[in-house]
Amino acid sequence: MIIAEWKPLSELMTSLKSYKNVLLVGCATCVTECAVGGDREINILASSLRMGLKNKGYDINFTTYILERACELRFVKKLTKIASKIDSIMSFSCGIGMQLIADHYIKKPLLPGVNTTSLAIRELPGLWTTRCCACGDCVLGETFGLCPIARCAKGLMNGPCGGTRKNGYCEIDANIHCIWHLIIERAKIRGNLSSLYKIHKPRSWDNSAHGGPKRIIRNDLCL
Ligand code: SF4
Ligand code: SF4
Repeated sequence: MIIAEWKPLSELMTSLKSYKNVLLVGCATCVTECAVGGDREINILASSLRMGLKNKGYDINFTTYILERACELRFVKKLTKIASKIDSIMSFSCGIGMQLIADHYIKKPLLPGVNTTSLAIRELPGLWTTRCCACGDCVLGETFGLCPIARCAKGLMNGPCGGTRKNGYCEIDANIHCIWHLIIERAKIRGNLSSLYKIHKPRSWDNSAHGGPKRIIRNDLCL
């Protein structure tokens, strides 16, 4: 899922001060799963913002709405009626949903309520860890299903950096496994350690974020 985190309350309040009627928009998919943009969170946040701003002398009306999916226009269009009654939109969807809302309600200022941070899984209640950074050229077939690009602090492609802790954790963060330690252990289980001797040449990042925005066309799906 796409993971996002709330912006600090003080930052949210600062960005809201110049408005009177604000729509807080959540999304019922990824940001609900990571507990920043679902119905419960948006309503709690609306109360906190209302009270916090009132204490500072700002009286703001908040309307809340949770879209089924903020990254699909057919759902975003459902805001049309509400949008005519508000003066700004604060979105708690990921950056994709935020941009679609901004595109569709071009006359309304779009205020980001969250920072979109990664593609992650929920390991435990309250703990999400990154699994992918959408590099555009997946190598999981060569690394036994473990991603060194997203999960090595240095993005190393040819084995560990030499700083791996004795317990197999990363030298950069004692709470995170060294992914190369895990890759090597999995290679041993598969009896295929020798496959890791292959040296990966420098990658082309053309198909990742570094290569500029992408258009993905599926002719079989085009009308
Ligand atoms: S290799 Fe690239 S696409 Fe595959 S999981 Fe890692 S970052 Fe994601
Ligand atoms: S210890 Fe492992 S995961 Fe951490 S930077 Fe070095 S190779 Fe990467």
